[in-house]
Amino acid sequence: MRKLIVLGATGSIGVNALEVAAHLGADAIDVVGLSGHRNVARLRDQAAACRPRFVAVTDPAAHATIADEWDPAHGELLLGADGVRRMLAEAAPDVVLQAMVGAAGLPASLQTVEAGAVLAVANKESIVVAGPLLVERARATGARILPVDSEHSAIFQALGDQPADAVRRILLTGSGGPFRTRPVDTMATITKAEALDHPVWSMGAKITIDSSTMMNKALEIVEARWLFDVPADRIEVVIHPQGVVHSMVEFVDGNVLAQLGPPDMKIPIQYALTHPARVPGPCVGFDFARYASLTFEPPSFERFPALRLGFDAAERGGTFGAALNAANEVAVAAFLDERIPYPAIHDAVARAVDAHAFLASPSLDDLMRVDRDVRDAVARHLDG
Ligand code: NDP
Ligand code: MG
Repeated sequence: MRKLIVLGATGSIGVNALEVAAHLGADAIDVVGLSGHRNVARLRDQAAACRPRFVAVTDPAAHATIADEWDPAHGELLLGADGVRRMLAEAAPDVVLQAMVGAAGLPASLQTVEAGAVLAVANKESIVVAGPLLVERARATGARILPVDSEHSAIFQALGDQPADAVRRILLTGSGGPFRTRPVDTMATITKAEALDHPVWSMGAKITIDSSTMMNKALEIVEARWLFDVPADRIEVVIHPQGVVHSMVEFVDGNVLAQLGPPDMKIPIQYALTHPARVPGPCVGFDFARYASLTFEPPSFERFPALRLGFDAAERGGTFGAALNAANEVAVAAFLDERIPYPAIHDAVARAVDAHAFLASPSLDDLMRVDRDVRDAVARHLDG
């Protein structure tokens, strides 16, 4: 029996995680805490179904709309980041499935590894911002960080217990998103609806935009760099439109191990929850007839300039990832609000990363300050 907290329970990963938990059954997984931000209607239903000990609503206005009529039989209702902090401290989880979106997830990720619990991490932004710190704290407390991101779950499984120096290359696959073949000279006219229409995966809005620009892959380069201690020059991106090979590891002896499966996040979520055991999952088997041909091609850096920023962040470390992530969060939010055109996302991010005061060995406070400063700078630039 594992005690589980699902952070960002109301999102795409969170909903899938609760389905996996229900499939594994109450004997295997005891859901002791949930968090949501604004979708309180969904959070209320989830709490009624799981009866956790705590339910945290991180958005104060959303919390205010349900606080009066909350049924305490569905868990003690908590408010904001402080509420999440108390939930993590008092519910004593074995596993925290971190599925909040954005750098807002960093404090909870850090608290989880500080407490020595398993961090099953979908929230790649916290690793992009503070990967070395999280890994170092986890090493000190004995906490495990288990990837939920499908590529990193694939790499984790392919690596097995091989040391970093046995790896020649990490081959990080990506579908290429909706604009893989769109004429580059028409990228300026991409609409929000077009960018939200992902050919393979159904996900939250922010990561769907990131997938269209391949900033998602850029963030995943950084995520792989820190999670697996592999330098940037040993990571390559491979476009694989079918989204079936979730990534590969090439070892120094020439063997390449790939992990395959249908594109369903319940598979890596379940593996992170049951690791090291493999137990029957809720997903249908792999249908070779449906995927008769698998194709691979190199990415175009001209089409997807975000990739270059991902490699730069993985190579330089320091505050680069925090700046990259903060700028991207603000620019993507502006695009989703239809305040800026599509190419302005990359322009704003590239400019902000360039302009920020880089520090090679930042403290947590330095990282938080860079996060704040870059957000302010990008907001000023986009509104000005
Ligand atoms: P969603 O947008 O669907 O869900 C995000 C979750 O975070 C929701 O529960 C949301 O609450 C909550 N949230 C939003 N803002 C805040 C905040 N400021 N503080 C705390 N919680 C907040 O995203 P996804 O589920 O798609 O993605 C979640 C994370 O997982 C991201 O980091 C993403 O990169 C990663 N990931 C997702 C994959 C996928 O297939 N979806 C695949 C691999 C990684 P509410 O909805 O109640 O407002
Ligand atoms: Mg991924």
